[in-house]
Amino acid sequence: MTAAADALPPLSGLENARLEWRREDNGEEAPHSTAFDDVYFSRHDGRAETEHVFIAANRLPERFAGWQASRPFVIGETGFGTGLNMLCAWACFDAHAPPVARLHLVSTEKFPLQRDDLARALSAWPDLAARAARLVAQWPEPVAGVHRLWLDARVTLDLHLGDTVERLALLDGRVDAWFLDGFAPAKNPEMWRPELFEALAARSRPGATLATFTCAGVVKRGLAAAGFRWRKVPGFGRKREMLTGEIAEPAADRRRERTPWFSPPAPRRAHHVAVIGAGIAGASTAAALARRGVTVTLIDREGPGSGGSGNAQGALYVKLAADTNPQSRVYLVGLLHSRRWLETLDPARELWAPCGVLQLATSEKERGRQARFLAHHPLPEDVVRGVTADEASRLAGTPIAHGGLEYPQAGWVRPAALCARLSETPGVGFRQAEVESLEARQDGWRLSLGDGSMLDADQVVIATAALANRFAQTARLPLQPVRGQVSRLTLPPGAPGLERVVCAGGYVSPALDGVLTFGATFAPREADTGVRAADHAANLAELEGTLPAFVGALRKAGVELAPASLEGRTAVRAASPDKSPYAGPVPDAEAWQADYAGLARDATRVPETPGKHHGGLWISAAHGSRGLASAPLCAELLASQICDEPLPLEQPLADHLHPGRRLIRDLIRGRHESAS
Ligand code: SAM
Repeated sequence: MTAAADALPPLSGLENARLEWRREDNGEEAPHSTAFDDVYFSRHDGRAETEHVFIAANRLPERFAGWQASRPFVIGETGFGTGLNMLCAWACFDAHAPPVARLHLVSTEKFPLQRDDLARALSAWPDLAARAARLVAQWPEPVAGVHRLWLDARVTLDLHLGDTVERLALLDGRVDAWFLDGFAPAKNPEMWRPELFEALAARSRPGATLATFTCAGVVKRGLAAAGFRWRKVPGFGRKREMLTGEIAEPAADRRRERTPWFSPPAPRRAHHVAVIGAGIAGASTAAALARRGVTVTLIDREGPGSGGSGNAQGALYVKLAADTNPQSRVYLVGLLHSRRWLETLDPARELWAPCGVLQLATSEKERGRQARFLAHHPLPEDVVRGVTADEASRLAGTPIAHGGLEYPQAGWVRPAALCARLSETPGVGFRQAEVESLEARQDGWRLSLGDGSMLDADQVVIATAALANRFAQTARLPLQPVRGQVSRLTLPPGAPGLERVVCAGGYVSPALDGVLTFGATFAPREADTGVRAADHAANLAELEGTLPAFVGALRKAGVELAPASLEGRTAVRAASPDKSPYAGPVPDAEAWQADYAGLARDATRVPETPGKHHGGLWISAAHGSRGLASAPLCAELLASQICDEPLPLEQPLADHLHPGRRLIRDLIRGRHESAS
């Protein structure tokens, strides 16, 4: 069902751009690619060239001015380079688009610039300085995959790092205007291959336009073969001609022939969305929708940030499998996403700290697993790296007997305060109520609330962790409650501290407001929320087993480490059978059963029938104990699906998160009723 995930390129770091700064005739320096022996832009007239070739030839000023759709206008680009084209498109959008319009930029890049080079290159254009600063501040690590950046309230940029043709094949989204950049075909024949044009045609909206500086035969032939009409128009400066064109009927998305059940539901009205559950999953989804102009009612039977998101402090961390799998991909990109998102949301860092996380290898087995992970995943050192016991000790600020992995981007968050902040996003209204049932109406949903009142909404997002399958429409969703208790120890002034979050079996964070938080217990199938002395004892034993020197130093400082001196908080988290979150549309289980039961007899006879859904009903749940890394990304995924935008994940990874994945797996295996 997620076989397409096997087609994903390796989870790895990317080579940065190799460039040098060359002085041009006017004495000013401009970036030049030594790998391709070609220019990024001319310092003399690069700006005017971008305006002529990409902006004007795609008729962006007039199209922006007339943009009335509720979805964003989408520009796709091959070869992000310095981002000059995209920053110019953004400036053009600001100058011409009506206030409610939104712009979504999608750009590929195989050799991302280093951050310093990016800043230096863009310093050539002082009037773009504020926009450049937004881009540079969020510039992602050179890791293959999709990286979403929030350029401003109306403008989003998805950087698809990796080879253009590969990335477009994985893109889930369609484009209104293409910027075909990327060095000249003679210098970069590998990119301008037939598959590029096929991918452009399959990711275009009807009527999508294109513009490119080149008139090379290979481009003209490729475009025509893929269904684009092109024409030559005057080029910029000394270049006599360039190409522009459009596609009337884009190619179908053939990827769904193998997995029709994951076909997305048709876009529906989304003026008012009800989000049930104000933990990190629901609150981040509410904020993501409100940012898009949607009116959101965020509903919770308690306040924002209760349940699993109610702790004062929680670790932002991930645990990646030794061998690449879709889950690890989601979590790694989720971690990087959360980090960028938090930085944008809370630059003052009142709600979080990127102090770094150490994942210790306290057993031979874990040492082997980590060694295999590092050998298989050449990732940048500032994303994850191996550390010795000495390094770990230095980083944590306490003697540690084990080496491990360091995640410098990870850290801790105040989840309860974060949920409270998110629920105050303009456009989000909080309502304390229990939602008892959901009823599909002609053009939306009716929610029956515990106090007997009703609430109507165009669409509904269920984000109630272990309770997410309590509704009739979600009853077949396999979910397991997992009880978890954290322990909290108030430290006296001057007590020894930690500089990093340290994980092994459990985790311990640097003290916050004089309180050390550690835990958590992990008790599948238990939903009782009483605080237990036995769980405190287990958390203490875990802490002492992992960091004996630290515990010894605490004792020496007079800190009493006994269950009776601890405070605690217990919450019920939710887990799916495969331990990945659910994020996507809610399948109509009965319809799937009727439409796909034949797969049990012959899984190769895939029917054409697209998956039927409870239209306008969505879910974000099963984030387990790593919701700080997964929920904000899933929030963007849902908001993008609801608002008909390109997705912030490769299609196979969005499929991996699909709430129907277990259902179709069971149907294929002939296990119709095994919902849990
Ligand atoms: N659009 C850019 C700007 O506004 O600065 C200039 C693009 S520069 C001329 C070409 C870019 O295409 C380079 O950054 C290069 O690394 C990238 N590129 C070349 N081949 C590629 C490929 N196969 N996949 C992705 N990016 C590629």
